[in-house]
Amino acid sequence: MSNSILFHSTNDPNHAQAGLDFADALMQGLAPDKGLYMMDRDQLPRLGKAEWDSLSAQTYPEIAARILRPFVTGRIPDERLMAICADAYDYETPIEEYGPGRYLMRLDRGPTASFKDYAARLMARFMSFFLAESERELTILTATSGDTGGAVAAAFHGLPRIRVVVLFPGAEVSERQRRQMTTLGGNVYAVNVDGKFDDCQAMVKHAFVDPALQTMDLTSANSINVGRLLPQSVYYMYAASRIGPTPPDRPLRIIVPSGNFGNLMGGLLAWNMGMPAAGFVAAVNENDEFPLFLRTNHYAPVSPSRNCLSNAMNVGHPSNLARLIRLYGGAMDETGALSQAPDMEAMHHDILSVEITDAETRAAIREAYERFGIVIEPHGAVGYMAIEKLGLSDQYTTLLVETAHPAKFPEIVTEMIGVDPELPEAMRAQAAMEEQALTCPARYPDFKALLLDLSENW
Ligand SMILES: *Cc1c(COP(=O)(O)O)cnc(C)c1O
Repeated sequence: MSNSILFHSTNDPNHAQAGLDFADALMQGLAPDKGLYMMDRDQLPRLGKAEWDSLSAQTYPEIAARILRPFVTGRIPDERLMAICADAYDYETPIEEYGPGRYLMRLDRGPTASFKDYAARLMARFMSFFLAESERELTILTATSGDTGGAVAAAFHGLPRIRVVVLFPGAEVSERQRRQMTTLGGNVYAVNVDGKFDDCQAMVKHAFVDPALQTMDLTSANSINVGRLLPQSVYYMYAASRIGPTPPDRPLRIIVPSGNFGNLMGGLLAWNMGMPAAGFVAAVNENDEFPLFLRTNHYAPVSPSRNCLSNAMNVGHPSNLARLIRLYGGAMDETGALSQAPDMEAMHHDILSVEITDAETRAAIREAYERFGIVIEPHGAVGYMAIEKLGLSDQYTTLLVETAHPAKFPEIVTEMIGVDPELPEAMRAQAAMEEQALTCPARYPDFKALLLDLSENW
């Protein structure tokens, strides 16, 4: 049974194809025409004022279930949805007021200490629920350069009917990143590839189209899945409910360190569902394609992408831009070509954007500590500096989104402020656990043999 909120491919702005409901779009991943699934703005359910006010007394899992319910009505029973949200969000989401009218939300208390846990954990549980319905089994193949592999592996660990094979370039990930993949065991198979990230990605892509592997029901869990988008609207609502009403002359402006723009999209959806705010800031590193687009009305990807300290944001052509453009009435294909112009005036009004250099990122880590006593890491630091460069504190109540734990970047944090950030508990435990990894040369025939071998025994 399908409910009324339908998702269409961003490559199909005029809806030539029938739409899919959330559950089907989630299981499908990428649309067949290579676009991303997206709902129309006027289909988003809006919370009324009274309901908004009631959120301040609800827990994080309760707010998550409330926001997601309209998207899964008829597909997931209410009490089951609540149980899934409670299970996914069994950790804190701290909101700190670090200066007058300056708030910081730390999305780093999940098992892999980055905000990606929020989306990956809910998507994993939704997928597992829908698989049980159809009695299917699924194998998730994912290649990682660092953080995504750990978040995806942790999110799917121990869930029935799903197994995860994660490929990582052995020589390119940090020990902490590697341990997030190799200490889980069970249904998580970590593969240490003697090669580069590009080799891992190429082997995964090859496997998806290999006829000899078609019986394996392979899928990916990458960030373009709509299942990773919706959960990212919840923490914005949660934060706004905790901050409460802002002074009329200081409305809320939310600063999002951005790479692929999935996090920002979550915020924009929350806002369109009725969250009170004055708008957003897309804070980027030296990959400045988006602020340039806003300044010039011309979009050009940065290619190759620039390597900056905030390495999870080194994206020269953000895939979620296609969704952002759809939200503003335009259409952009996967190469970045615009076939329909978005409402640029509205975009300018809603989203400010600024690029931050590595030197500014370093300075921000030091200044945040010296001026306010807060410890932030390079991604959050890009957001911090955006507030300063745009002079936002004079006009707005600001909410800075910190996307990772400082202990994931101990070298730069220690260098700038002389403090070695304490490891979060989940990562401390991993430091003492035994590692298990398969090894594989960067050659597809070897990887294929490894996969076939594994599949005999799972
Ligand atoms: C993935 C990531 C980002 C970028 O988020 P997008 O949704 O891709 O914009 C920022 N910070 C950290 C720590 C990340 O892991």
